[in-house]
Amino acid sequence: MEKYWNPEIECMSREDMKKLQDERLVAQVKHVYENVPYYKKLMDEKGVTPDDIKSTDDLHKLPFLTKSDLRDAYPYGLLAKPLSECVRIQSTSGTTGKRVVAFYTQHDVDLWEECCARAITAVGGTNEDVCQVAYGYGLFTGGPGLNGGSHKVGCLTLPMSSGNTERQIQFMTDLGATILCCTPSYAAYIGETVKEMGLTPDDLKLKAGIFGAEPWTEEMRREIEKSLGIKAYDIYGLTETSGPGVAFECSAQAGMHINEDNFIAEIIDPDTGEVLPEGSKGELVFTSITKEAFPLLRYRTRDICVLTREKCSCGRTLVKMCKPMGRSDDMLIIRGVNVFPSQIETVLIDQGYAPNYLIEVDRVNNTDTLDINVELTEEQFSDTVKDIQIKERELVEAIKTILGINPKVHLVAPKSIARSEGKAVRVIDKRKLHD
Ligand code: ADP
Ligand code: ZN
Repeated sequence: MEKYWNPEIECMSREDMKKLQDERLVAQVKHVYENVPYYKKLMDEKGVTPDDIKSTDDLHKLPFLTKSDLRDAYPYGLLAKPLSECVRIQSTSGTTGKRVVAFYTQHDVDLWEECCARAITAVGGTNEDVCQVAYGYGLFTGGPGLNGGSHKVGCLTLPMSSGNTERQIQFMTDLGATILCCTPSYAAYIGETVKEMGLTPDDLKLKAGIFGAEPWTEEMRREIEKSLGIKAYDIYGLTETSGPGVAFECSAQAGMHINEDNFIAEIIDPDTGEVLPEGSKGELVFTSITKEAFPLLRYRTRDICVLTREKCSCGRTLVKMCKPMGRSDDMLIIRGVNVFPSQIETVLIDQGYAPNYLIEVDRVNNTDTLDINVELTEEQFSDTVKDIQIKERELVEAIKTILGINPKVHLVAPKSIARSEGKAVRVIDKRKLHD
């Protein structure tokens, strides 16, 4: 039977949820207008006042916030509470540039941890579980968020942080961890190390994993599930809106429920800013309606995604977002063709390779080049040179069919591509160095 952390909210009727969001939005806009001069100025420039926002139907009237606003306003410019009321600072990973910082009151920390508690409960977690948190602890939100959620649920929490992989596995077996939380690339690495240590999934008590903070494919999900003998669930979040737990996957394993009592989600056309109807693909925008210290309104995530209100088998009524298809700024334009690294990952895993690869893009004589380094598994490595050449050609063909452009594929020795303990680096775009 499906378990909920907060059934009243998670299964609330659409009308009641809208009413709740309407009330919270109106209060939040007032709070921000009165306390954040930076956003007040944006509203004034757009000619919008708090009186214009009477319900979520008026949301589109508000100006957007972008990552560059956060960088401009760094560090205190978007703070809506006195520092004396703030108890925590977290920071983004800086994947796409200068880090931004976010502030939390105790109330904000509690709400965030509740979101993570919902995620842990949705994968079957209870106070009987041992939850190993192998996301990084520190400024990165992964460790602290899941740690707090795990405490709330009452799991026995193992605050391992990331790294020291053999010790992770030692503790996992000695203490019988049943739930693992980390990035999907680190989960894959742990799975690989389990095998190298001569263990099998039967030696582990793990039953579920909560993996997020970076894009990962369905093929990668299947790999991880096999290597660790678990069900692997997705979790989404970003520092700007609190951290992991903005949305979480349920037993259906088909998209993540957004915690709509805290966040209003919209999908917009990234070029025009126009709000798109449900089911359209576009950029995900979030409005925090409960956060006190750092309440961003209409924050553009740059994550490309689709929202759906189709009925979910788990019984939750919260809107669902699909797996983000990568950030708008992850998308590579190679010889005029849009390429997402996830498309390449899908082909590699489908063809029997492990998810260890590095994409290099460059520009030589005014033409873009695409080089894909793919690691061979130990078994594949023992093939003859001729077999390996055949494999390379097969991969080139398969990738060409999907992307429509011709890559160079280099099959490299096992272990020659660096493993990730946090967010994996999959792409090196050397063109940026020349610009
Ligand atoms: P940074 O933007 O520096 O990486 P964060 O650590 O706050 O900072 O990361 C948030 C971003 O991570 C999101 O905007 C999104 O691009 C990515 N992300 C988080 N969870 C997922 C997920 N489950 N699937 C895909 N991408 C994710
Ligand atoms: Zn569901």
